[in-house]
Amino acid sequence: MIKINEHYLKLQASYLFSNIAKKVGEFQQSNPEKEIIRLGIGDVTRALPEACTQAFHKAVDEMAADSSFRGYGPEQGYDFLREAIVKNDFQPRGADISADEIFVSDGAKCDTGNIQELFTQDARIAIPDPVYPVYLDTNVMAGRTGEFEDGRYKGIIYLDATKENNYVPGLPEEKPDLIYMCFPNNPTGSTITKDELKTWVDYARENQALILFDAAYEAFIRDESLPKSIYEVEGAKEVAIEFRSFSKSAGFTGTRCAYTVVPKECAAFDSKGGKQLIHPLWNRRHCTKFNGVSYPVQRAAEAVYSEAGKAQAKGLVAGYLNNADLIATEIKSLGYDFVGGDNSPYIWIEAKRDSWEFFDMLLNETGVVCTPGAGFGKCGEGYIRLSAFNSYENVEKAMARIKKALA
Ligand code: PLP
Repeated sequence: MIKINEHYLKLQASYLFSNIAKKVGEFQQSNPEKEIIRLGIGDVTRALPEACTQAFHKAVDEMAADSSFRGYGPEQGYDFLREAIVKNDFQPRGADISADEIFVSDGAKCDTGNIQELFTQDARIAIPDPVYPVYLDTNVMAGRTGEFEDGRYKGIIYLDATKENNYVPGLPEEKPDLIYMCFPNNPTGSTITKDELKTWVDYARENQALILFDAAYEAFIRDESLPKSIYEVEGAKEVAIEFRSFSKSAGFTGTRCAYTVVPKECAAFDSKGGKQLIHPLWNRRHCTKFNGVSYPVQRAAEAVYSEAGKAQAKGLVAGYLNNADLIATEIKSLGYDFVGGDNSPYIWIEAKRDSWEFFDMLLNETGVVCTPGAGFGKCGEGYIRLSAFNSYENVEKAMARIKKALA
């Protein structure tokens, strides 16, 4: 008899975005004349940088001729992209990462979800709350948690991000083996300083733990004193894996290209306490289960690092940050407390009431869609997330309506 993996039955159905879609659909039906403005989404809205589409087209043309056609590429990614990544994303920030430590993939979602396969079933997992749900759900699937009770899975060490700690969790009382971190954070938009990050790196080193650092939003960091990579912190290469993506930095959400950094000295331990390097294990996993990102997509990603591509991608990010500034200014003028928006596309607002109640009020009175914080974890209750991923015109219109409704 074929039996299922019953850990899947523990998963909470993700009601968040389906519930939002249902409520928006109902609102639209009863108010067909009202224009809806979506500030709930975490998806980019502006076109790819022109340098990327040009490189994309050129690479597609190469695929159309036998003489320049390419079949399977290296699973880890083409050298031209891996070298451009280290030269532009790490070396200028003093992070000593080499091209063969970069694993190109089709998404930080897949990588942050798949990485847990490398670790033992009884690894103790620390996960922030609120959180990008992939970290939690993939560990539930793998059987590293108990049942879901009172809004939380048993067996997980939750790292509360609250107003009291400025949305940067402190070190946990219980000792974790694997620690998930995300800065700039989704959903809160909070950032971490180099000193705070060093505390975590030192903790991981002292406790034989490993940090999984999701830097999918690093491109939004404007404050030069903030770390973009965990490898800017001394000693991080032994205890941290970093995830990056072209999704938000260059509009690749629909094009799909990302990468994971596994430094050669990064290690975990076997059952006898012996040091085991992670690089060969991730390489083995990657080559066994993944056949590489398509050649034209990797050429498009490489073009992000051309002079024109850099300027255009920067322009995209600056546009979203400009939206975030407007949202932050207006929310502040309304007297609401919030975090994020300065170095992130997300603004996390204290709703002063139940987060779904605030969502309903905003939708019904203004036609603006936000994301209720409760959908990201227990600590998200009482908050909403506004996203800067929209046109400036729409953000202006949305904020004018919100101001009128909340003033
Ligand atoms: N990590 C975080 C924190 C995200 O918010 C997202 C997408 O919203 C991702 C990863 C996914 O990135 P990708 O598009 O590369 O799969």
